[in-house]
Amino acid sequence: MLKNDPLEQWDRDIFLHPSTHLAEFARGNVPQRIVTGGKGSHITDRNGNRLLDGFAGLYCVNVGYGRQEIAEAIADQARELSYYHAYVGHGTEASVTLAKMVLDRAPDHMSKVYFGLGGSDANETNIKLIWYYNNIRGLPEKKKIISRWRGYHGSGLMTGSLTGLHLFHKKFDLPMAQVLHTEAPYYYGRPKGEMTEEEFSAWCASELEAMIEREGPETIAAFWAEPVLGTGGIVPPPKGYWEKIQAVLEKYDILLVADEVVTGFGRLGSMMGSDHYGLKPDLITIAKGLTSAYAPLSGSIVSDKVWKVLEQGADELGPLGHGWTYSAHPIGAAAGVANLKLIDELGLIENAATVGRYLNDRMRETLGDHPNVGEIRGEGMLCAVELTADRSTRAAPDAGDKVTQRAVGHLLENGIIARAMPQAEIIGFAPPFCLTQDEADEIVEKTARAVNEVFGSGTSPRPA
Ligand code: PMP
Repeated sequence: MLKNDPLEQWDRDIFLHPSTHLAEFARGNVPQRIVTGGKGSHITDRNGNRLLDGFAGLYCVNVGYGRQEIAEAIADQARELSYYHAYVGHGTEASVTLAKMVLDRAPDHMSKVYFGLGGSDANETNIKLIWYYNNIRGLPEKKKIISRWRGYHGSGLMTGSLTGLHLFHKKFDLPMAQVLHTEAPYYYGRPKGEMTEEEFSAWCASELEAMIEREGPETIAAFWAEPVLGTGGIVPPPKGYWEKIQAVLEKYDILLVADEVVTGFGRLGSMMGSDHYGLKPDLITIAKGLTSAYAPLSGSIVSDKVWKVLEQGADELGPLGHGWTYSAHPIGAAAGVANLKLIDELGLIENAATVGRYLNDRMRETLGDHPNVGEIRGEGMLCAVELTADRSTRAAPDAGDKVTQRAVGHLLENGIIARAMPQAEIIGFAPPFCLTQDEADEIVEKTARAVNEVFGSGTSPRPA
């Protein structure tokens, strides 16, 4: 790329950015950043800035930037065999090896994996497999899917419907009719003292059960959920939640889909979120961490229970009428194999657990008593700081004050990328697993400064 290319102008004029205020961006009112490089936990941009990426891209660059082992694996694969499809029994060495590595890391009762490109299409595959599954079982009415408010499952028509954030529905005529949303496991959002955490979990399960009864259990196919709510605010489940929810699903013959696009392959400090919380999903969706985003690849992991029905269906229906040109793309698969090996070799999941805990502990020590911090929560290498106008009532700050956006802007000016999570006043962090303790300290100190700056309290962070 020529140094003097008018790239910034082209970007404003012709590039339609996802999840961006299009008109404001074109008018030049939304900041622009053209990213040029990355190493470890840092990225660099065309203006020469070096930033600590506290969100690992979109919580996907789990092993960190600039890993030559993965780059080499991609280059070797491209030189040897850049593409072959996976239709009608074809495969590549990379895709079959990766399937084995994925299954070895998935919960024991999972038995097959289907590869796609991104989290949305993998969820789409899982929806189709579930409808297929119930058709084969002679239950054509059993098609509705329940997901949760605040859940994030993608941006497609059905997956955008499963997503429980209004921004992703607004003016797209979504959600579609087969999708219903139940309560989010967002304990902080309830009035303080209304019920204990366990009572809240029981209430979420009873709300789910009431919805199933209302709709008719014979019409509900599946329940879709992230083990930890991600984009909806980084919300670990309240005590007893999964146990109670799974009991309801079992009672009504409803499949559980664990969307592990964020949590899969180490983000919680365990290999899979399902094992971390004792979930027994019937299907699992994976993406981001599968390749650490060195190449696009996703997957749908199928349990033995679902597979047995699909197998029976194949004998009746013939070939599976579902596939993408790029299903199991060998370059993505080669990236996946190298990525999972690197995670093991460098002990990156252990680092995610240790440094993630350190980051959360330090954030609590430093900001936990701040009058404008309502809650600090996280698990593994995920951390959220929820801002409030008044911590005794948990009142949200005035939306017009844009406190979270301003805090995130302040962090950015000081070299840290954080994310203003949609639909609440939450600063989110999901750094690469290779984050060091010093980098965690830097995130915490600069977050404290940003929060103080925005609320004008002048309180300085407590020393470590
Ligand atoms: N599921 C979850 C839990 C996600 O966080 C995301 C993306 N943030 C998706 C699905 C969709 O993945 P993609 O953007 O790759 O389609």
